[in-house]
Amino acid sequence: KANRKFHTDDTIIEVRGQKIGGGHFAVMAGPCSVESEPQILEITGSIMQSGANFLRGGAFKPRTSPYAFQGLERNGIKFLLECKREYGIPIVTEIMGISDIPLFEDVDIIQVGARNMQNFRLLKELGHLKQPILLKRGLANTIEELLMSAEYIMSGGNENVILCERGIRTFETYTRNTFDLSAIPMIKRISHLPVIADPSHAAGLDWMVEPLAKAAVAAGADGIMIEVHNDPPHALSDGKQSLTPARFAEIMEKLKTYISLE
Ligand code: PEP
Ligand code: MN
Repeated sequence: KANRKFHTDDTIIEVRGQKIGGGHFAVMAGPCSVESEPQILEITGSIMQSGANFLRGGAFKPRTSPYAFQGLERNGIKFLLECKREYGIPIVTEIMGISDIPLFEDVDIIQVGARNMQNFRLLKELGHLKQPILLKRGLANTIEELLMSAEYIMSGGNENVILCERGIRTFETYTRNTFDLSAIPMIKRISHLPVIADPSHAAGLDWMVEPLAKAAVAAGADGIMIEVHNDPPHALSDGKQSLTPARFAEIMEKLKTYISLE
């Protein structure tokens, strides 16, 4: 179902009046984790001023250490919904387990993180929902495996899948992951689904987000996901790769030369 052989036109996904794919560019920005209601409200206001059209923020966080901040969970979603009510911006947030599905009823785009890309039971359940699914490529997964995971969702009836290249694990250690730029044109050739890039998790370094975001746009990405935090040094997760709202605004100004945002 994800293959272009059966669907030659680009799929355009529409969420609350915002389109992704087929020439419609999505900018998803926000903190790695929702940390408090004032924090997420403040960030939402600033990223929207810079032109972001989706708010991202983690409520359920897949952390390597069980002692690290695990996310505000139910309250995190509540605060994201507050931002949506206040600003009218669609929200994107990660799901980690089937039992949490009821909490995601009003979430506009449900993210499946890299670590759950092959959680097949979860993918099957998401195939029965109506919301678009943002499926991130696993840390050590091939493009073919990513597309087969999309099939798990689509074969259940939910054909609104957005794919995301967020860097893969290689022998290189200077960056958090290795941004697989070639995945963007490759997936777009094979599949009609929208493909976005996440330069924040690929690089793991705030100063590298700009060049990788530009590269993603040049390679034909249908959108980007960027982590933005009001106080990166004190972020509860992924501070090193998070941009300040001011820095995000600068990058957006530069990108607007190449992309048009509705
Ligand atoms: C995230 O988007 O905050 C995240 C955990 O991403 P990934 O699954 O790509 O590591
Ligand atoms: Mn993160």
